[in-house]
Amino acid sequence: MHVKSKDTVIVISGKDKGKKGKISAAFPKLNRVTVEGVNVATKHQKARNAGQPGGIIHKEMPIDASNVMLVCPKCGKATRVAHKVDRAPNESGKVVRTMIRVCKKCGAEID
Ligand SMILES: [Zn+2]
Repeated sequence: MHVKSKDTVIVISGKDKGKKGKISAAFPKLNRVTVEGVNVATKHQKARNAGQPGGIIHKEMPIDASNVMLVCPKCGKATRVAHKVDRAPNESGKVVRTMIRVCKKCGAEID
């Protein structure tokens, strides 16, 4: 996925279009994410016992990751993400390849 947990994103389609929020959970296998304050379902729950009071419960429901765009932490713009491969030696001198996400607007490395 182009986004992951803790990313700030903007919703680009659906009923919450235009909303900005932080990804609270990511489900890469399903290509879905939950975003703070986005696609919130409201449930009215009855009190079951003393430890579980009733009331209105707000729960974020997952949305498709393709419906959000990453907001670059550097330039603050909604952007598409480029990936680049970084090769750097680890502690034991072995060169390891890591994928780095790059902002297409300002070129900043994100992560
Ligand atoms: Zn940027």
